[in-house]
Amino acid sequence: MMPTHMRFRRRSFLGLIFLFSLSTSALYFIYSAPGIVNEYLFMVQARGIQIRENVKYMGAQVLEQVVRSAYNVNSTDYTYEFNSSETDVPSTPYLPEGFTYKPDQVCPEKLPSMKGKMKVNMSEIALEEVERLLTKADPSVSLGGHWKPHDCLPRWKVAILVPFRDRHEHLPILFRHLIPALQRQRLQFGFYVIEQAGTEPFNRAMLFNVGFKEAMKDLNWDCVIFHDVDHILENDRNYYGCGDMPRHFAVKLNKYSYMLPYEEFFGGVSGLTVEQYRKINGFPNAFWGWGGEDDDLWNRVQFAGYKVSRPRGDTGRYMSIPHHHRGEVQFLGRYKLLRRSKERQSLDGLNNLNYSPLVSRRSLYTNVSVSLSRDLAPITDY
Ligand code: UDP
Ligand code: MN
Repeated sequence: MMPTHMRFRRRSFLGLIFLFSLSTSALYFIYSAPGIVNEYLFMVQARGIQIRENVKYMGAQVLEQVVRSAYNVNSTDYTYEFNSSETDVPSTPYLPEGFTYKPDQVCPEKLPSMKGKMKVNMSEIALEEVERLLTKADPSVSLGGHWKPHDCLPRWKVAILVPFRDRHEHLPILFRHLIPALQRQRLQFGFYVIEQAGTEPFNRAMLFNVGFKEAMKDLNWDCVIFHDVDHILENDRNYYGCGDMPRHFAVKLNKYSYMLPYEEFFGGVSGLTVEQYRKINGFPNAFWGWGGEDDDLWNRVQFAGYKVSRPRGDTGRYMSIPHHHRGEVQFLGRYKLLRRSKERQSLDGLNNLNYSPLVSRRSLYTNVSVSLSRDLAPITDY
């Protein structure tokens, strides 16, 4: 039999190996799978919030019952709706079913065709099949995914910008849901898929700046939507027009348990008028890899004196198409840049960006392929 002290040593050695592999895999996840880590951390946090909310809610109900029974002398009680939430109550009603449009008048914002909750179908489908289905349903979709209503004048001319690299299976799923919803919203729209070529880390923000400049060469858009390819809206009352204030559309994501991860969250799907976007000098170009660029946009919007608006209640629900982070790296320098959002705003953005794109028109979108590198957006010292 082995002496006890040796058994102990052998075990602690195995323990060390175990701890080592645990910490390396933890590092691996933090560095190269940031999406998974953030989702997990958020889920843990969200569970905590939900439990706390439930406890608070039950406590409030019990108190309510106690107080009510104490005052309820003549036993004529009123019915009380416990589950109603103020934010779910629409401010103005939607127009009735038989509403007739006038071709020379601006389309209303709350149309009877906007029914609310939509069916989401995440199954893969070929792009050609979606093209076929959509043009069959409405033959007036033209090259570049351009469309405008025929029975009224569009309230907004909206350019939808989608940053893209190697997510081919996502695009048709996005179009299948978004195009019919935008048609029901009677918006004029066009789609721009801005594809990053080359081998540099992905730069979502810079792609949006490129997309903005390219789209503006086409048409005098007045509203621009910045749309992740994997975000599928669940409610067609989530109106993709712009407003006095920059808007955050993707408020409740299934991957974040349908809760806003933090108040300053501005990711997924957001939209600004062309004027607002120019005023904030667009997105920053300096965020290479995953994360931070949306927070910087939030900062820019605040510094310009805007206050972000959001759809109420369940209107802002989205499902995201599950995906891997193949070879994507987290941008660890983001915290440093975010501390300097204000100083960088006038130096890095629409105004210091050069690029040479390859533009091609497809039936449902305009493809802008662009190779990105740091020297395309030189930034003077600050
Ligand atoms: N994206 C892409 N290819 C990539 C990385 C990102 O097309 O390799 C685009 C895509 O539109 C995606 C968005 O950038 O929806 C945000 O990136 P990602 O989905 O990786 O972020 P996460 O969902 O983890 O926040
Ligand atoms: Mn995603």
